[in-house]
Amino acid sequence: MKSSDVKQLFSDYSLNTYKRVGPVFVKGKGSYLWDSEGKKYLDLFPGWGVSILGHCHPKIVKAIKEQAGKLIHLPNNLFQEEQALAAKEIVKNSFPAKVFFANSGAEAIEAAIKLTRLYGSKTGTYEVITMKNSFHGRTFGALSATGQAKYKDPFKPILPWFKEAVFNDFESFKSLVNDKTVAVILELIQGEGGVNIASKEYVTKLKEYCKEHDLLFIADEVQTGMARTGKLFSYQNYGITPDAFVLFKGLGAGVSVSAFVVKNEIADLFKPGLHASTFGGSPLITAVTLEVFDIIK
Ligand SMILES: *Cc1c(COP(=O)(O)O)cnc(C)c1O
Repeated sequence: MKSSDVKQLFSDYSLNTYKRVGPVFVKGKGSYLWDSEGKKYLDLFPGWGVSILGHCHPKIVKAIKEQAGKLIHLPNNLFQEEQALAAKEIVKNSFPAKVFFANSGAEAIEAAIKLTRLYGSKTGTYEVITMKNSFHGRTFGALSATGQAKYKDPFKPILPWFKEAVFNDFESFKSLVNDKTVAVILELIQGEGGVNIASKEYVTKLKEYCKEHDLLFIADEVQTGMARTGKLFSYQNYGITPDAFVLFKGLGAGVSVSAFVVKNEIADLFKPGLHASTFGGSPLITAVTLEVFDIIK
């Protein structure tokens, strides 16, 4: 197809939520992309940390092909091997925890927000502190947790129980804590907000404070996970253990799989029926996740 025809199709049929630029790409391999005219490009933008292994990594392609011929989807009321092994892989590399698989970053964040509700229900706490310039996704809960007015304002009123602290400013965090506070959710390196790195001192203080005051410390590792900061998960750079964290972008190295990980001590707050995702952790996708871990190692 001619690139002008493809662009016309977008204009005619696609909801106008993205500013699309450049040529029409038809093929990728490693760090390169090819457009519809056969021109080769060096790709310096792997989709916000998604294509961490490059385009069409041969082992990922092989894993998809093999699993596609074996078993693609099963409902989550049945057992399957790939999802169980992928959960084990995440836990083995983090801390004693349980894993819930979903399909997007925002969806995993929603699970984390639901955790704060379940955790706070015994004490009547529900307010969540998030950070200015943070990004957690576009669904209503995740959007409300996001500390950027440009994303939230057009959709006001948003959920009112999220409070924005200044990133890297412990006093700002403390000033927002009250007897309704249940958790803090933060990226240890803000991605969307401009690659802002949390200092070790800040994270240490924050974690200690949360422990002392029975607040959940939840790390959004959607962009920082999967070895993009030198450690497999960015919290491991800080010598702390979060109570829960979420993974997405690089977790499937191009296929859509997210994970919500919650420490064993509180994982039992989730009971059958309290949360679900029809496609979450399907065999096709978790087989890829397993391969991603293998390649990264
Ligand atoms: C991209 C991103 C999300 C949201 O992921 P989606 O799959 O787009 O919903 C959440 N948190 C962080 C840190 C992100 O960078």
